[in-house]
Amino acid sequence: MKNFMIKNIEEIKQASDVPTTLKYLGVDYSGSGLISCPLPDHDDSTGSFGVNEKDGKSLWHCFGCNTGGDSISLVKVMKDISYNEAVFEVAELFGIEVEFTNELAKEQYLNQTKWDKFYEWLADYWARGEWRYSTEDKKSEAIIYLENRCIERSMISSLNIGFSTGEYVYSVLEKAKELGITVEELIEAKILVSAL
Ligand SMILES: [Zn+2]
Repeated sequence: MKNFMIKNIEEIKQASDVPTTLKYLGVDYSGSGLISCPLPDHDDSTGSFGVNEKDGKSLWHCFGCNTGGDSISLVKVMKDISYNEAVFEVAELFGIEVEFTNELAKEQYLNQTKWDKFYEWLADYWARGEWRYSTEDKKSEAIIYLENRCIERSMISSLNIGFSTGEYVYSVLEKAKELGITVEELIEAKILVSAL
């Protein structure tokens, strides 16, 4: 689920600036130059993270882990939340009210069940997890498979292609608990396989 039901996504993007978002996230940023990458999975001691402006939009980029984006993607990655959750958080930070494409979309979003939220998070998490724990020296089977098929990284991220080896089960359990989903329900939904 992306931003199809949010009408003023462009307005939110234009209004948000990365230095303010960094401050909000507790990152020390002086306003210029490169800083240590604040992304949770990049141990950066050299200072590879910078902020710039393009077409009136404030953007960030890390030359070390070769990622970048706007305030929404920054909040999404830093706080490990879904895209939509990040949109709402950034909108609130910059004092903008989120407008839905129509009343039905608004209702649907507000009534989103715990399962919708969980599946959205899970898809994001599995897709991202593979990249997060893969380095040039230690690539997972899924990454090697995709690279051999010449599927580019940008395509993988836009299609949210993911794979899980089960290593990340504790985070999945934690998120489920937060949303009020029980272990029994996870097994019934075939997300977990019972070890008994
Ligand atoms: Zn980085």
